[in-house]
Amino acid sequence: MNRNVKVTTNAGSYPAQIGSGIFSDFLEKRWSSSKAERLFLVIDKNVWNLHRERIENTLQHIDISYSKYLLPEGEKSKSFAEWEKIIDFLLEHQIKRNSPLIAIGGGVTGDVAGFAAATVLRGIPLFHIPTTLLAMVDSSIGGKTGINHSIGKNLVGSFYQPSAVIADTDFLSTLPDKEWINGLSEILKYAAIRNDEIFSDTNFFLNRNADYRNHPGIELLIEKCIRVKAGIVAEDELEKGIRAYLNFGHTFAHALEKEAGYQKVSHGEAVFTGMLAALHASNRTGSDLNEIRLERFATLYSLNQVIYSFPIKQLIKNMSTDKKKTGANHRLVLLKDWQKPFIHETDDNDLLQDAWNYALQTVNKSGKLKQK
Ligand code: ADP
Ligand code: ZN
Repeated sequence: MNRNVKVTTNAGSYPAQIGSGIFSDFLEKRWSSSKAERLFLVIDKNVWNLHRERIENTLQHIDISYSKYLLPEGEKSKSFAEWEKIIDFLLEHQIKRNSPLIAIGGGVTGDVAGFAAATVLRGIPLFHIPTTLLAMVDSSIGGKTGINHSIGKNLVGSFYQPSAVIADTDFLSTLPDKEWINGLSEILKYAAIRNDEIFSDTNFFLNRNADYRNHPGIELLIEKCIRVKAGIVAEDELEKGIRAYLNFGHTFAHALEKEAGYQKVSHGEAVFTGMLAALHASNRTGSDLNEIRLERFATLYSLNQVIYSFPIKQLIKNMSTDKKKTGANHRLVLLKDWQKPFIHETDDNDLLQDAWNYALQTVNKSGKLKQK
């Protein structure tokens, strides 16, 4: 079944399609009759190695000329150096203003290839083929592109909407477990801030005997998540207002990532921990939310003991340098109730201390349970 979500932006709308095997269909429908064009592909090296046959077969089948650039895997590729190499590659192959750039990979590929598409010749058509669960439900939707700077992550970039997003779930067959769990955090975030159904839709992640890789519910789950993200982005494309709700758990998460080093704690692990902290802080400010709804997923995360030993003082200090911060206070996204996010500005150190204590203890406890 081919699922379709219309993503609306100020510049118009584009389709996000979800389905098994839809990558080939999409290329065929879009380009089989336009032989004159050359496609430019930027592909994550791992994805190329794992899915080369399928990608090459499709391109041969539609008989179109193409040039490909293989992007080394990992966050380090979100660099000025890689961005420049992609630009060199595009210009050396005589890219034209209407030549399509197709980004095939996870969030890293989408971000850096997207930024190249946004900047070369002042912008060429961009197509996202997200291959990680995280990229399918989150980073491919919303038009953020960019690279990192030595001073911090995602400090250079632009809002640049793609012409289409094609989430082909066949790519997920090779995705490592830790990347599935990485994506799960953002999925739980959508459940918490917008769509309660998503909590029950994610139950299959907890069923030990069910292989989530082959779960039939994954396509509908991805569709629901894209609807949440697209809905919020449509209301606030340039992140001036409610798009901030998508940062639920993230102010805490960024502080943790910074402290741990980005290699040791994945974004998803940090966001999960951050959401626990935000949930606890919500309850401390007067909400009455059942923490078990998130806590029960903690066993899926292999956060190690190191995390518990992080100095909370330092984590709190890191939070105040979050680029999303405005004014003198810590700016948190909390919940009045499930699906009722609000912005809470605070300088209450005890509140933050308690929230961190609870979150770190919870992930630490689940780490111990895992070792048994
Ligand atoms: P994210 O999508 O989580 O932002 P990345 O783009 O860095 O992050 O992708 C995470 C890792 O998963 C990278 O090592 C990448 O090479 C790998 N990867 C991406 N897609 C797939 C896939 N379909 N199968 C296996 N590995 C993949
Ligand atoms: Zn995130």
